[in-house]
Amino acid sequence: MKTMQLKTMLILLTFVIFFTYNACAAATIVGQKAPRLNITNWLTPDPPSGTSLQGRVLVVEFWATWCKPCVQSIPHMVELTNKYADKGVIFIGLSRDKSAGDVRTFLKQSDINYHIAMDTAISDNFSCRGIPTAFVIDSSGKLVWQGHPMDWNFETAIVAALEAAPPPFLNGVELGPFEDLRLQLSGGRDFLRAYRRLRIESRRKDSPDSKIAAEIIETIDAKIKEQIQQADKLRETDPAEAYTLYRRIVRNFRGVEVTRSAVTSHDELRQDEKVQKELAAIKDMEKAEKLLTQCSACQTCTDFNPECKDCIRLNNMTLARVQRILTNICTKHNDTKTANTAQQRLEKLTGKPPQDKPTTPSSSPANTSS
Ligand SMILES: [Zn+2]
Repeated sequence: MKTMQLKTMLILLTFVIFFTYNACAAATIVGQKAPRLNITNWLTPDPPSGTSLQGRVLVVEFWATWCKPCVQSIPHMVELTNKYADKGVIFIGLSRDKSAGDVRTFLKQSDINYHIAMDTAISDNFSCRGIPTAFVIDSSGKLVWQGHPMDWNFETAIVAALEAAPPPFLNGVELGPFEDLRLQLSGGRDFLRAYRRLRIESRRKDSPDSKIAAEIIETIDAKIKEQIQQADKLRETDPAEAYTLYRRIVRNFRGVEVTRSAVTSHDELRQDEKVQKELAAIKDMEKAEKLLTQCSACQTCTDFNPECKDCIRLNNMTLARVQRILTNICTKHNDTKTANTAQQRLEKLTGKPPQDKPTTPSSSPANTSS
């Protein structure tokens, strides 16, 4: 009898060690796919359902009523919820209190405006660090940030995740029995499979859902057509911008009949040297802009000021790199629209026109000999 007990104890101990070790080893790090949120014990009314968390930017914070820095962070979480909840971000606080009753009592006297649930070992999959810790999950389900909720980068991470989220393609469209397909039908890798499923449903004579499936297909087709028309219109005036739009349409909705014309246009513009040159110039321009935003202000200016000598001196190295990129755009991509913008920036930055003034081959007198 005694050996049996000992054996059971040993097996149990092995399991405990294995799982404790594993929980830490399996903790997700930033850049990886976030763990599934199996939240069951909600303490606030109207909790988000499993499917409504899909494709959304999520903020998950681990906290407890007995943790002082956690409680001190609550007003900031409330403020962020006020700012970003109606833009589509879902804020969830997972309490590590032992008793749900304690949390309920606490909630009665707090002004928490985000969803609260108990942490039923969910934190094990996230991180082994202490509380409070907040996590930002982007719309593709990737963990993009983790840190203290009072960290000023927290809000920056939320905004970045919001900006990276795909446009709300099916906003306001009732999907009824096909609600579980919302994310796939919004475009991307699994779009075609979901679209085909709808089409099969729409042709089923015995199915009560066939009519609604047909209606959803019609709506999706109309929305794609609308985007293509927008790109077609842009093609005359700004083919590079049109190319970017076609590319997005093709990437999101490849494989269906309505997208076909966009695929053709996309291929045509991809082989258009002028368009590709413009795109290369835009890419360089973005690099320069990004560097410029890194420039800081001197003691007297509130923001980086290209007309202030002190600001310029402070950011000498970065500005030299920006100038090099801008000059390069002006010379290498001289016949692009972006080259004009680059030249204007350069003049503003240096106070004088660039030395390598862009010249068009036809008007250049460089090769004429006397
Ligand atoms: Zn200054």
